[in-house]
Amino acid sequence: MRIAIIGAGPGGLYTAALVKRLRPGCEIDVWEANAPDETFGFGVVFSEGALGGIEAADPRLFARLAAECAQWSRIDVHHRGRTMRNGGYRFSAIGRRVLLSMLRTRCEELGVTIRYGTRAPEAALLAGAYDLVVAADGVNSSTREAHREKFGTERGERGSRYLWLGTDRTFTALTFAVADTEFGSMHAHAYPYAPGLSTFIVEVDDHVREAAGFTGQGSDTRGGGRADGGPADVDRIAGIFADVLEGHRLRTNRSRWGRFSDVRNRCWSHGNIVLLGDSAHTTHFSIGSGTRLAMEDGLALALAVDRHGAAPEALTAYEAERRPDVESMQRTARISQEWFEELDQYTDLGMEAFNAHLITRSGRLTQDDLPPRPPDQVELIRDRFAEADRRLRGTAAR
Ligand SMILES: Cc1cc2nc3c(=O)[nH]c(=O)nc-3n(C[C@H](O)[C@H](O)[C@H](O)COP(=O)(O)OP(=O)(O)OC[C@H]3O[C@@H](n4cnc5c(N)ncnc54)[C@H](O)[C@@H]3O)c2cc1C
Repeated sequence: MRIAIIGAGPGGLYTAALVKRLRPGCEIDVWEANAPDETFGFGVVFSEGALGGIEAADPRLFARLAAECAQWSRIDVHHRGRTMRNGGYRFSAIGRRVLLSMLRTRCEELGVTIRYGTRAPEAALLAGAYDLVVAADGVNSSTREAHREKFGTERGERGSRYLWLGTDRTFTALTFAVADTEFGSMHAHAYPYAPGLSTFIVEVDDHVREAAGFTGQGSDTRGGGRADGGPADVDRIAGIFADVLEGHRLRTNRSRWGRFSDVRNRCWSHGNIVLLGDSAHTTHFSIGSGTRLAMEDGLALALAVDRHGAAPEALTAYEAERRPDVESMQRTARISQEWFEELDQYTDLGMEAFNAHLITRSGRLTQDDLPPRPPDQVELIRDRFAEADRRLRGTAAR
């Protein structure tokens, strides 16, 4: 079987590694437009459940990830000079660059060919030369856009503008901070992902952004557009959030003012081309789950391909397995996004009430809490991959 994968983000690389673990004889070619260490963003959050899936599918990758992940157990809400601490959670996070580098190493160990700095040929061309084409090419997927009628794509940009920044302050919790300014309220989501490094995402309404004179034109964060989260905006943001940053610096990495891009597709495959990760669906970053969803898509697709090969049944099984979880997360994310869009309604509540509203905004208690996989499902995954390992050892011994 020959598989072409467009995009070496977390979704594409994890899919490649898992298919290769289950079907070592499969030939897998991955194309990535960027160079290996060139990527956007800072750290990404994982829930406990997400790491459990990785542990069952690839213990070696899991051990490396677990060793690098920052972990914490609190959500702190910071508002008008007061901080409320909410305990009892379990979060992990890792730098996006470190995650991609680990996935790349895993792919290389398993014999996946990755062509960096090379845009993939058109999916329609690949579809003739490969048994399966996986479009893991992100939120701006050109594969999806080329066949949007077949996929039934709906894409809308809505809500506030955000800027994905980092800081050298090591936060000790997932922290939500609201700043009252003369232009209106602004808020930030921050969390640690490595010693001396935290993600810091700022969101502002259009009218606040205009009043503040932030220069962004609001291109999608990963589309071209102006690199307009420039030093002046960033320095002013650092000043506005100086109390939560405790004097630490803010950093940029291809940081642009953007709007969340809501992507949904009526159908995730067309012929032998299949959408995976952000090309198929997005969830607002306030529930921090896009990377986890992309990787879980990869696991489901690998299992389906192991069972059905590249036959249409594999793509039907993959979508049937993933769509309910994805749509559930999209519903939660939509509620969370709307809560933040209506933040001004809550800022005058007392601190306790404000905190309670924020923490329970999506009707779920934590920000990324699909129930963990049932233990029997985890066992099934573990068995499938362990069986593949045994087969491989048997072949090598012969
Ligand atoms: C502000 C912000 C904060 C976020 N925070 C979190 C978080 O805390 N936790 C979390 O889990 N998720 C978070 N996410 C979401 C997360 O970044 C995405 O969901 C995740 O990266 C999706 O992975 P992917 O592999 O589907 O796509 P991507 O990571 O976008 O990878 C797609 C890859 O395809 C490549 N590509 C595109 N077209 C081509 C082509 N034609 N040829 C070759 N290569 C191509 C791109 O260069 C890219 O490397 C956040 C997103 C944003 C915007």
